[in-house]
Amino acid sequence: MKLKNYFYGFATTLVIALATNYLWSTTTVNANAPRFQNSVIDNSIAQVPNNPKFGLPIECKLDQDCFILLYSDRDPSPKAVDFGCGRQTYDGHKGTDFAIPDEKIMAKGVAVEAVAAGKVLRVRDGIPDRRVKSQADKDKTKNIECGNGMVIDHGNGWETQYCHLRNGSIVVKPGTFVNAGTQLGMVGTSGLSSFPHVHLSFRYQGEIVDPFVGPNAKSGCNIPRNSIWQQPLSYKPTGVIRSGFADSAPTMDDLWSGKFYDTTLPGNSPALIFWVQIYGVLAGDQEHYQLFAPNGEGVIDNKKEIKSANKTWMGYVGKRNNSQSLLKGKWKGEYSLTRNGKVLVNITKEIQLN
Ligand SMILES: [Zn+2]
Repeated sequence: MKLKNYFYGFATTLVIALATNYLWSTTTVNANAPRFQNSVIDNSIAQVPNNPKFGLPIECKLDQDCFILLYSDRDPSPKAVDFGCGRQTYDGHKGTDFAIPDEKIMAKGVAVEAVAAGKVLRVRDGIPDRRVKSQADKDKTKNIECGNGMVIDHGNGWETQYCHLRNGSIVVKPGTFVNAGTQLGMVGTSGLSSFPHVHLSFRYQGEIVDPFVGPNAKSGCNIPRNSIWQQPLSYKPTGVIRSGFADSAPTMDDLWSGKFYDTTLPGNSPALIFWVQIYGVLAGDQEHYQLFAPNGEGVIDNKKEIKSANKTWMGYVGKRNNSQSLLKGKWKGEYSLTRNGKVLVNITKEIQLN
């Protein structure tokens, strides 16, 4: 029986953590900017002021419905560092990745919006939404790394580029004038993208700008910051992507595709699994998983230390339902991630076993 093999080696409880460190999102900008259609730049576009501020490129509540998964790489060497001196970037990443939890939400639709007034210069659409999971997948995105997207000219030397939009979702054309907040399309995962998100790049006079530090900044991370965001955005390198329950062990791929939203499970489910998906874990982080039965009894209490840094992380605990041994009623999972004594992530989740 497949499930037995699955859980082979575990008695009645299981604790597993898996990680992926390899996230892909377009790195190059000029070379792979959408260029299916072109229009001539004219001078009639709205000019942003000399010290412009920009809005967010996505319609969602940051750190609640969406999150920043990757920042710009500020290290010119083959190493990588984000502006907060952390690891939520990779070598050559030239933008900010605003992510949503999974493809189920992507299918419902989360709008990508212009970050300031301007004129659309170039647009590309028609690239399928396919999460890159292997080198072969990656090879298929050659020269279309940005996927579906657009470039907007804001005047005074400022441009923005948006990548990985959902196939067929783009509602602007070259020459379209937009305002801050004008919908451009929907968040997707087209091109070189391994999770649903919009990659936003800023350019000032042709040079890439990290929006958290502003133009003409020195490389590295211990530098003065002159953010170009309209709203104060805090550096949040660690947080929750999603959590939930499942009747079998989830994979990272299951989670990105939007499985396991159940709030009830049948009493004859083969197992009860409490899972969490987190971004930005570091070596030495302490995880604490707990599972409580409907009668309040703590049936799992598992503490462990994360061994290496990972940009995304998944872990779970669970109990097999031997001869339907699991009590029916409301089960509760609790999870915390602690770093240097500070709790960074705290999750409580319930499920009804009927
Ligand atoms: Zn990116």
